[in-house]
Amino acid sequence: MRVGFAGLGAIGAPMAAHLVSGNDLAVWNRTGDRAEAFVREHGGRAVGSPRELAEHAEILITCLPSSREVEGILDGGEGILDGIRPGSLVLDCTSGDPGASRRIAARFAERQVAFADAPVSGGTDGAAAAALTVMVGSDAETFERAVPVLRAFGRRIEHMGPVGAGHAMKAVNNALLGVNILAVGEGLVSLVKAGVPAPKALEVLNASSGRSFVSEKLVPERVLPRTWPVTFRLALLDKDVRIATNVAEQGQVQTPVLNLASELLAAARAQLGEEADYLEAIKLIEAQAGAEIAS
Ligand code: NDP
Repeated sequence: MRVGFAGLGAIGAPMAAHLVSGNDLAVWNRTGDRAEAFVREHGGRAVGSPRELAEHAEILITCLPSSREVEGILDGGEGILDGIRPGSLVLDCTSGDPGASRRIAARFAERQVAFADAPVSGGTDGAAAAALTVMVGSDAETFERAVPVLRAFGRRIEHMGPVGAGHAMKAVNNALLGVNILAVGEGLVSLVKAGVPAPKALEVLNASSGRSFVSEKLVPERVLPRTWPVTFRLALLDKDVRIATNVAEQGQVQTPVLNLASELLAAARAQLGEEADYLEAIKLIEAQAGAEIAS
């Protein structure tokens, strides 16, 4: 299969690496050096524009920060729509916006190109292990076409509904992750200040009903040992929670908890910058309280 992959970022690169074997893979990245480095390490070939990528691909995958960047590489002479052939399939693995995806799908449909939103969950470790969950928004026929290629990096591939439904699912998932990071951070810092050592607090929490993915995996592996590799930028989590609050607003659902989490994450992003990791939001809770969740 001739596959094209656009966006070799923290999660895009390990996803694309699984597509080298068994496919004729072309990759494009805004910063070309990154595409050359990918090809040296994994194989495939680098192309110079989204248009060239689209000319090559029967199936084209995008994995950019948000729908805005995806819309930014659609046209203008060197864009995907400038090169794509009728009958191709575009899968957007960006954690994007449902409304934008419906617009994008309509533009591809004009060229007889099928489109699905197919955001992923499972982090960079999950991508490396080809163990991602993929949440697909598309018609049923497009989903069937997408599954074999998504299998390269996805362990669980779920059809969520029409175009946009995958992005809505992903945004809500990450909104819950955001709420949980803040809540676990506040809870553990409170316990440290109350005199309970953080490792003990975590041990008991994880044997009790307040436990979660954050307390069972993220805090023990990254916060307790004070290691902050940038695997998922805080800016991207902030974007996801905003998408979730928009989805809720469109459904006239009031979400005071999500709104507050969104406000706090936006403030953390403003303070820590665009390159901070998402778990670093916990540092701000610690700084305010003057206590650390450390082992
Ligand atoms: P990164 O910030 O690491 O990478 C972003 C990629 O998009 C890079 O290839 C970057 O190119 C490219 N890019 C940025 N701006 C533009 C632009 N204007 N035009 C074209 N290309 C652009 O992001 P991630 O790989 O972490 O995330 C990608 C998507 O996957 C996001 O939607 C994110 O929310 C989602 N996601 C991420 C997870 C993670 O653990 N990291 C987990 C699950 C989902 P360049 O190299 O030139 O900067």
